[in-house]
Amino acid sequence: MSKKQKKIKYDFECQRCGKCCSLYCIPCTNNDIHRILNFLKLPPERASDFFELVEPDEEILESYEDVPKILVEDIGSENLVLVIKSDIVEEYCYFYDDEKKCTIYPVRPLVCRFFPFVYEYEEDSEADLIDNQQDISFSVYEDSNYCKGIGQGKEFDINKLKEVTVQTIKEDMEFEKKVKIWNVKVIFNQIKNCEERDFLNYILNKGD
Ligand code: SF4
Ligand code: SF4
Repeated sequence: MSKKQKKIKYDFECQRCGKCCSLYCIPCTNNDIHRILNFLKLPPERASDFFELVEPDEEILESYEDVPKILVEDIGSENLVLVIKSDIVEEYCYFYDDEKKCTIYPVRPLVCRFFPFVYEYEEDSEADLIDNQQDISFSVYEDSNYCKGIGQGKEFDINKLKEVTVQTIKEDMEFEKKVKIWNVKVIFNQIKNCEERDFLNYILNKGD
């Protein structure tokens, strides 16, 4: 656990201020995108309307340390991550609406579901976590000003949080595997078209 984090009692109730929907680029996996497109009743070809590859700014790059980096030919960077597009003017997540708030709430990316908590576990116990959820611990950043919901309402349902965390770990592993296969194919010139839209097409249509 970093010095900036602390153990907490899980009192939390979202105040719907929308701050977390504007502060960060939201990383997504193939499963997140599938759920969102199904909810919107849109085909995989529409993914590029809502999702893109970006290189996070230098000062926040560290926060994306565990997010798989994707190689494509049309964007020259080795630090690209797959995220939800932002509203260019307001800089809010594409799916945020001032009145309705999150317009895809039931299928929002898993990373949005356990915010503002941060989970932690022993790296080598990844496979066991599925059966052994007590090995997961949670914290929030000490500077809790970033989320008005911390300390509000009643104690948060920790078991629910653990279920989401296990699902997140499983889906992250699956996504990471897909990205590794894609990157190796790009490096060895085994993919004819390897631009951003081809990557989206690959993760949404092909298995591997
Ligand atoms: S910053 Fe906290 S209180 Fe505000 S919308 Fe996000 S989770 Fe809710
Ligand atoms: S998907 Fe929803 S909860 Fe997540 S950042 Fe966007 S508007 Fe906020």
